[in-house]
Amino acid sequence: MIRSAIRLRLSAFAALSLVASCATIANLRAAPKPATPPPAAAPRNPIPYPITESRGFARAVANGTRTRTGAPGPRYWQQFARYHIDAELVTATSQINGRETVRYFNHSPDTLRAVWVYLNQNLFAPSSPRTVLVPVTSGTEILRISAWGDALAKRDTGAGYSIDGTRMQIRLPRPLAPRDSLDLDIAWDFQVPPDGAPREGSTGDTFMVAYWYPQLAVYDDVDGWHTDPYLGTGEFYMDYADYDVNITLPQGWLVGATGELTNADQVLSRQTRDRLAQARRGTATVHVVTDRDRGAGPTKATNTGFDGAVTWRFHADNVRDFDWGASRTWLWDATRAIAGDRTNRGRPDTTAIYTFYRPEARRWAWDRSAGYEQSSIEFLSHYLWPYPWPQMTAIEGPSSCSGMEYPMLTCVGGPRDTLALYSVLVHETGHMWFPMQVGSDERRYAWQDEGLTRFNQAEGMQAFFKGYDRESIARKSYLDFALGGGEVPLMRPADQFPVGTAAYSIATYDKMATNMMSLRALLGDENFINIYHTYGLRWLDKHPTPYDFFNTFSSLSGQNLSWFFRTWWYETWTLDQAIGPVTTVGDRLVVTIENRGLAPMPVRLAVKRTSGATERYIVPVDVWLTGASTYAFSRDNPATVASIDIDPENVFPDVDRSNNHWVKR
Ligand SMILES: [Zn+2]
Repeated sequence: MIRSAIRLRLSAFAALSLVASCATIANLRAAPKPATPPPAAAPRNPIPYPITESRGFARAVANGTRTRTGAPGPRYWQQFARYHIDAELVTATSQINGRETVRYFNHSPDTLRAVWVYLNQNLFAPSSPRTVLVPVTSGTEILRISAWGDALAKRDTGAGYSIDGTRMQIRLPRPLAPRDSLDLDIAWDFQVPPDGAPREGSTGDTFMVAYWYPQLAVYDDVDGWHTDPYLGTGEFYMDYADYDVNITLPQGWLVGATGELTNADQVLSRQTRDRLAQARRGTATVHVVTDRDRGAGPTKATNTGFDGAVTWRFHADNVRDFDWGASRTWLWDATRAIAGDRTNRGRPDTTAIYTFYRPEARRWAWDRSAGYEQSSIEFLSHYLWPYPWPQMTAIEGPSSCSGMEYPMLTCVGGPRDTLALYSVLVHETGHMWFPMQVGSDERRYAWQDEGLTRFNQAEGMQAFFKGYDRESIARKSYLDFALGGGEVPLMRPADQFPVGTAAYSIATYDKMATNMMSLRALLGDENFINIYHTYGLRWLDKHPTPYDFFNTFSSLSGQNLSWFFRTWWYETWTLDQAIGPVTTVGDRLVVTIENRGLAPMPVRLAVKRTSGATERYIVPVDVWLTGASTYAFSRDNPATVASIDIDPENVFPDVDRSNNHWVKR
């Protein structure tokens, strides 16, 4: 999503204050009094020792599911499910009545005696812990659960189910063996929260329905069950699944959803279908449902459900989630995007583009939204790799959607100008790559999707608005915050950042985008983009951890980059390279390069001669890894040196550039 969407507030959850770790206390107690004072001239710079991988990751390497090259291991596995969901939206009361059957395939080598299920609507339940202010509903009511046909009761022990906030544990009547599958049948209902709920909500006329059905939690090869609660700030981690979803709601309402509509001839009028077909043939925007068409009825009634109701049937293969929005006032625009040759047929594939918005949203540039989506998909398909799905939909939803991504779908709410609308659409569309295709854990490592997406967003905006420097905006946000103090290392779960500050969004979005720019400068443009693509393609439809990202960049660049990852992921050290004293010693000009910050980086130098010629040098990062804070750089013919600059192209995030320049007087 885009940052700043969530209003932060202290809640009951925040009462769990931080305490000193046991290790710290033990060390304090055990520390003997020093017999002699410590040496006075200890190196000023901390040495960026290598990052340490988690115990779960080390175990996964030993098990052969991961490697230290960054590629998945030969025994990599992940779970899979098939959902069939029937849902009815009672628009007058915002009630959703749902029933689902799930076949859950155990691809792990483990026998599972219980499974965990996410009940994300319980974020809004009165007693649930949370880190954000939300409207309160009664959450998800579970009406019925059966496993392999056996009805299960709500109970604390034995076969049955129990609920703790946004998580439900189902203890199975018999163990689920490796290579076996579990059939669950669950009936539930809930009330869609009003506008003001993060990433979803209803205005009465327009609904964004998300995190809405009981969804199997992730069980992965690194950490097993992922039962981190949904507290509001941290986003999602989901396994891939196939979906058949039938949505029943009144005639005349339009639905935008993950997946493909499979019964268009049953729900859409002839005119609507003809216009969609027209949009598929060209690259112009077609107004599929206009103001005038709304009265005539772009849909037609089917005989299912309540009187005058229409059932929209959607199908999606191998996606992390299924979400949808609906409105009785939307207009519908469509076009197509050329997404690159994703099927290796030697010619470009196309994808359908749909946008839905209320008539009044024209003043926020939504009449351009189909073209913006088309441009976003085409840019990202070219910059990263081809968009893989048959359609992409953007809906103008409740304001608290702000800008939020779901597979093949984004919901954007609130007023915007053209620049801001393109910005949010290219960002959310960027999420179709990270995390929708590269399925990282957003809750623990938000930088793995948000930071990469902020970086890709900058590239997309710079391509669309020529001369617009979106990269510098991201870097300036990070530098301003770093200089002001309050920075927190970005390697931290989203819900464990300080509440009420910008620390989370700066670290996750702007600093991480800045890290990608630094990485590109370290590796060179071509090398960087090749490794970036390899990381994404290796982990397509899989679950990469941060170590898979680090290891991919280190192994494919042929460099041990642990100093870089340590500095920019695990610390809040800043970079301040400066030109210190410059003297002539014999026939050499000796330039003292100072590393005034704690972050080590190579020093990119430009030495300009009086002839006008410029010489370029790179002082390798190794000179700082000893802990040194100065380095003597010397050149011949001192009389001909006119000026010296550090990082003249401004590729590294130096907090003080005023000391990067020396000129002979
Ligand atoms: Zn985002």
